[in-house]
Amino acid sequence: MTVKKSLIALAALSMMTSYAVSAPITTEGTGVGKHGDVVAAVTFDAGKIQAIDIKKSNENAILAAKVFTDMKAAMIEHNSADVDTITGATVSSDALKAAVKEAAKKAGVTLNGPVVLLKRMPNIPEKNVYDVVVVGAGGAGFSAAITASDAGRSVVLLEKMPNVGGNSLVSGAEMAAAGNWVQKKLGITGDSVELHYQDTMKGGDYKGDPKVVRTMVENALPAALWCRDVVGVEFQDDNLFFFGGHSVKRSLIPKGATGLDFIQKFVSAAEKRHIPIITNMKAERLLKDDTGRVIGVEAKMDGKAYQFMAKKGVILATGGFAANVAMRTDANPFYGSSFKTTNMPGATGDGIQMAKAIEADVVNMGLIQTYPMCDPNSGAIELIDDARFEGAILVNQEGKRFVEELQRRDVMSKAILEQTGHYCYALFNDAIEKKSHAITHHPDEVEVFTKTGILYKGDTLEEIADYFKIPVDNLKATVKRVNEFARTGKDTDFNYRSRFVDLSEGPYWAYRGVPSVHHTMGGIKINSKAEVLDAKGQPIPGLYAAGEVTGCTHGTNRLGSNAYADIIVFGRIAGEEASK
Ligand code: ADP
Repeated sequence: MTVKKSLIALAALSMMTSYAVSAPITTEGTGVGKHGDVVAAVTFDAGKIQAIDIKKSNENAILAAKVFTDMKAAMIEHNSADVDTITGATVSSDALKAAVKEAAKKAGVTLNGPVVLLKRMPNIPEKNVYDVVVVGAGGAGFSAAITASDAGRSVVLLEKMPNVGGNSLVSGAEMAAAGNWVQKKLGITGDSVELHYQDTMKGGDYKGDPKVVRTMVENALPAALWCRDVVGVEFQDDNLFFFGGHSVKRSLIPKGATGLDFIQKFVSAAEKRHIPIITNMKAERLLKDDTGRVIGVEAKMDGKAYQFMAKKGVILATGGFAANVAMRTDANPFYGSSFKTTNMPGATGDGIQMAKAIEADVVNMGLIQTYPMCDPNSGAIELIDDARFEGAILVNQEGKRFVEELQRRDVMSKAILEQTGHYCYALFNDAIEKKSHAITHHPDEVEVFTKTGILYKGDTLEEIADYFKIPVDNLKATVKRVNEFARTGKDTDFNYRSRFVDLSEGPYWAYRGVPSVHHTMGGIKINSKAEVLDAKGQPIPGLYAAGEVTGCTHGTNRLGSNAYADIIVFGRIAGEEASK
């Protein structure tokens, strides 16, 4: 059962309606969404909206789903474009509002003004009892809930946002797994669980917990196989990613190269198992019995309190705190309000606070990671940055390289922040596009970034330099040098670890990027069984945690694609352990 919230209108503030037309008329309007234009064809009759048909939208199918269901229905019901925005999908909501307003203007229809919408309580009892209560419906929460259900337990999944998915919805969702089937197919040898362990420990400057890291790398391949064979996630079978800090190409890529596919498959798997997913339900407090055992959570929906009691265990899978500026500043003042974040708005550290309130230990809280190439306007990760992994070079405003393009995220971010304007450009040509499909895979980004002026395509280097005001001679000299490195296979400037691609031939693309807060490495202290530990290192009975809410895996710097390994591995372990 999925509990859906429905909306009722209490009052229409403005009831003005003009009847400019007497027969049905359909007009189109456009609004700019997060992933390009949203075009709606709106049919009016006697001055009232009869139907809204979405002609074009590349908005995130899960994140923005309620914009095109609940919000659209509210617009029709109240003959207004000024209905409640869907939390977490503001840009998509505004796009639909703008499109409907424009269509109304064209049709000569005056819509009602803003309507005050109240949320009707769904029929959830105040006190609920399950074997396992999972808090947070991201990758870790879904993995935990599905595993507990398959262990024969009754499970509920609580999510505070109107939509499920968490940061998976804004992630490439690549997953590191040593010895995987795609490596075998591509003839990549020399990888091992031990090498993955060494890479992870070294990449995090040995601040990860050795036992927890070992558990992650040992279980990464079984977790990937579980995603493929049990959850039904489809992975690309002809390519792997080579993220900074990994010694070999070992990162599986989901089809479509985004986490949306993962989440859609997780939702179907959870629904197949009849796991209730209660959205808009925010867990606020852990409940303990006299013996100190965690026995449930108190949660709120629209200000009303609910209890979800857990006969077996509570699993915190609430993600990190990248979207909580105050908590970020407190943990590490450098990452305060001057940074935007790549994260979803739900990443506010609630699980860490709830666990701390019952004396759980936290570790590595000051270790915060920025993703080097993000949209300077929104802070979101630039998915076209896929090009960088196939040979795109980074240049500063002066047209010069300044860092190895496949370096660790912390090293690259620091280097970018030291450049003029604290940004840089990635430059690539058609030969790289043919390998990375950065442009063809992300047409929505291409549309938005072209409009906002941070992406430009030119046939020549002169055109690129002219558009971004980069000194053309510098840019040409940089490219000439990279072409030489491509020929010799050795980068004598920054020691590029892969082989460069010759950049003699256009067309070229360049995009501007800035570092943005991406991952909070610190969090709740757990052991290899995903048990939450107190300051004495003792497990708190009944409480488990998995995913970014925990702080033991990545040390100073999370390697790309280790998050997905972490959240699935420990989601499954938490689900198993809580079911025992
Ligand atoms: P992970 O990658 O570890 O799975 P995500 O950040 O992707 O973490 O997902 C965490 C999910 O938990 C998000 O969907 C977020 O909205 C949700 N969440 C955060 N705090 C709460 C809370 N207090 N109650 C319910 N859900 C929460």
